Amino acid sequence: MHESSIALSLLAELEDVASRASRPVKAVEIIVGALNVIDTDALVNAFKAAARDAFPRIEVRIVREPARLRCRSCGHEWVMEPGDVEELVKNHPRLGTLLHLDADTALPYIKCPRCGSSEVEALAGARIRLGRVEFA
Ligand SMILES: [Zn+2]
Repeated sequence: MHESSIALSLLAELEDVASRASRPVKAVEIIVGALNVIDTDALVNAFKAAARDAFPRIEVRIVREPARLRCRSCGHEWVMEPGDVEELVKNHPRLGTLLHLDADTALPYIKCPRCGSSEVEALAGARIRLGRVEFA
């Protein structure tokens, strides 16, 4: 399951942060971009399962981040909320699969709403990463 491998890499990052701080971790935020079509409950569960030994009582919060997109052809910039991405995926199931695996590879399938170009880049909202770490 894709969510487990994401959980493991986030956990490795958190272990690094925790060992540098040498303080117990109470809670962590996982930032999920609007373009990252994943099962966030599965991600939280996978993360907690993987973190059981190192961080037995950790609180995990998912923070959804809107996507900021930019057209390389005309320079237009626009924002997609997670709900906008859900709408898009409803009409293009294949895009949903691509966004699930790797948001960057799916970008050419998103068209600029102003000029229709598919030369689109994501300025934000295409990555899953650690957010704020709260120490006890
Ligand atoms: Zn454009």
